Amino acid sequence: MTACSGGNASGNNSARSVATADNNGIEHPEFNADSAYSFVERQVAFGPRVPGTKAHDNCADFISRSLRDFEADTVWHQTASVKAFNGKTLPIKNILASFNSGAKRRILILAHYDTRPWADQEEDKSRRDTPIDGANDGASGVGVMLELARAIGSNRPEVGVDMFFTDVEDYGAPDDAMSGEDTWCLGTQHWVSNLPYTPEERPAYGILLDMVGGTGAVFPREFSSSRMAPAVVDRVWGVAAASPYSDRFPNRIGGAIVDDHIYVNSAGIPCIDIIESANPATGGFPPTWHTLDDNMDHIDRSTLKAVGEVMLDVIYSEPGA
Ligand SMILES: [Zn+2]
Repeated sequence: MTACSGGNASGNNSARSVATADNNGIEHPEFNADSAYSFVERQVAFGPRVPGTKAHDNCADFISRSLRDFEADTVWHQTASVKAFNGKTLPIKNILASFNSGAKRRILILAHYDTRPWADQEEDKSRRDTPIDGANDGASGVGVMLELARAIGSNRPEVGVDMFFTDVEDYGAPDDAMSGEDTWCLGTQHWVSNLPYTPEERPAYGILLDMVGGTGAVFPREFSSSRMAPAVVDRVWGVAAASPYSDRFPNRIGGAIVDDHIYVNSAGIPCIDIIESANPATGGFPPTWHTLDDNMDHIDRSTLKAVGEVMLDVIYSEPGA
């Protein structure tokens, strides 16, 4: 994803087995931070997940296999090819899964699994053509989602949960973020054009997870989410405020980000972005963003835990109909 200069860019169900309760009293299965961390590590170990590479294919297989292991009701791929801003034709493989596929009320959780092919934010120009590990930008959101899938698979909530692992999110034009906006999020733009829902089947809302693993990260209310899906932002930040992780979800407006949620909103599904957009060192994204330092050294289990626990609170307090 990229920052957008147009906005404020400164940056209960009844008792079930194996349920735990945290301070706000919502019972849900445990979010295991070590497990989430290992899902991040596994992705990074494949190498940079650049569209069209073997590492990307291997990662798509790993995600799909994991979802089947966690007993998702359905796992399928939406494939296409698209032309990137630089004229290159790229394969898209969006990965879609559904839990509680019979539930009338559904929510959508999404994160991108591709990684940026260039370290174009590196200070040293000679290193900018090198692909990044994408431990935070890519693998962290997927790592949290896979741990959510593990938890949900073993102990279903009332609500239906659809998962969307988006592809070719991070292949956007490096310069002039606003004019190049539609060069980002190509997998999600394809999904919107080929929406796998009738109007009646559409999820009630969506939550995008992006850069949710950085050391000490906090998640203010992302600017465009607050404009496009204010009720969802209120719901998630309200749950966070009542949780032990309220410090991680400050009640103020953060940066405006061009990310997959913008396109999901355009499909008529209110969708928010949980993203580190107000790092104290930069006023925006963390300093590792689109650099070769976006690696496992800067992934923090306690950040994954905070986001995962708040997500489980949201999911397990959501009615099924
Ligand atoms: Zn990115």
